Amino acid sequence: RAKKQGRSNYQLFTQNMNSEAMRRVHLDHSLRRALENQELEVFYQPKVDLQTGQVFALEALIRWQEPGGKIIPPDEFIPLAEESGLIIPLGAWILEESCNQARRLNRIFQTPLRMSVNLSPRQFKHRQLARQVDEILERTKLRPDLLELEITESAMAKNPAKALRTLHELSELDIYLSMDDFGKGYSSLYNLKTFPINSLKIDGSFIRGLPNDLQDAAIVKTVITLGESMGIEVLAEGVETREQHDFLIKQGCRQGQGYLYSPPAPAKNLDYILSRPLIS
Ligand code: C2E
Ligand code: MG
Ligand code: MG
Ligand code: MG
Repeated sequence: RAKKQGRSNYQLFTQNMNSEAMRRVHLDHSLRRALENQELEVFYQPKVDLQTGQVFALEALIRWQEPGGKIIPPDEFIPLAEESGLIIPLGAWILEESCNQARRLNRIFQTPLRMSVNLSPRQFKHRQLARQVDEILERTKLRPDLLELEITESAMAKNPAKALRTLHELSELDIYLSMDDFGKGYSSLYNLKTFPINSLKIDGSFIRGLPNDLQDAAIVKTVITLGESMGIEVLAEGVETREQHDFLIKQGCRQGQGYLYSPPAPAKNLDYILSRPLIS
């Protein structure tokens, strides 16, 4: 009996493997097509000055809507594009699109807005990264200090010596660099000390339990203090409630991002979103 069950489990396993593999091939194919057919759209989520409620930056977040209307979240296709290498042209497209958007907004609004773009690990490892970024800045005429690149802590930690070189190349372009999902990866205080980082984004998983979860509260407080004493800006990701917001303010955190202020929105909504403070 056990043997029989074992076999059927195995069959189930291979069946799943096949359909998973097929799903990926299919997804990879449709992603290439999507890029050509402009089914991909960059959404933008505000980063908010917690004191004033004013938006000081936008984070570009890619969205894929299939012709049928189905939205495929980036967590599903970015890893796939990573594996296939498609992330390199895709990432370059997202960067250029976002820089163009930033240029447009900075022509309209008086106060300078920063545009923040996520880099996947493979983009971060790519030899030509700094050159690519430089070329896009050149083409779009965006002021370099108005571009921010978000790199996850884990992507930086994989090969710290190489990461340090890349970060220096990037910071020589005068762009702004932030460590994304801070606290989720293998943090090393040594990396924090040596990397030329302008900002830390505290991972949303630590914000969720605020203000009641004592561990979350302790971690968040500590990171805020750490950033402050090191001259690194600290932003809280995934702020969803007024209570979380109030806690962050009380602890001296100056920057936040999350559904409480605004979800990621299409470019056409930005003029309205940027016209007023998002919290008071
Ligand atoms: P991330 O860079 O850490 O982005 C934060 C994610 O949290 C986004 O999910 C955002 O929509 C979501 N979020 C924002 N506010 C809240 C909130 O209050 N509560 C909750 N629960 N979630 C919130 P999204 O857009 O699905 O992106 C997921 C991840 O996919 C991103 O994490 C980033 O790693 C990656 N990604 C997204 N767009 C791009 C892109 O253009 N290029 C690359 N390389 N990666 C991207
Ligand atoms: Mg990010
Ligand atoms: Mg993040
Ligand atoms: Mg994330």
